[in-house]
Amino acid sequence: MTHLGPQADGDTLRREQARACSGRRKDGSYCKAPTTSMPASDGQFYCWSHHIDVSSETKTAAARRGNLVFQQRKLEQRLTKLKSGAPDYATAQTTKTYLEHVSRLVQTGQLAPSQASVICQLAGLAVKIGELELERSILDAELQQASDRGGRR
Ligand SMILES: [Zn+2]
Repeated sequence: MTHLGPQADGDTLRREQARACSGRRKDGSYCKAPTTSMPASDGQFYCWSHHIDVSSETKTAAARRGNLVFQQRKLEQRLTKLKSGAPDYATAQTTKTYLEHVSRLVQTGQLAPSQASVICQLAGLAVKIGELELERSILDAELQQASDRGGRR
């Protein structure tokens, strides 16, 4: 997107209709943030961070609180995602579902390839254990069959 700066008439009109902030950004363009409901002491409307009646200490404190809330939400989202994609190697289907989930995370950049690599190794071990369990079941069945045959003799 190219930004050519405020365009005199259209910009002023739009600002009045939306009661946009009278503050200016660092690049000189008008701020587009929503304003507080009450006008400032100069009769103009400002967003919270451009408000002339709010001290810089209060603004800094509010920004810190806002950042904390943002970080907390991000953390909660990550935890929710982790919970929904909890490892499950119980069956071939759950393993497949989990590996698909991990693949999506890598594809969207939410999981480092090195972490995915470790998960793949663990999944490989889970598959190996599954194979050993299957082999044991087959052997058990064969032994059972042999002893059944032996008993009938
Ligand atoms: Zn502003």
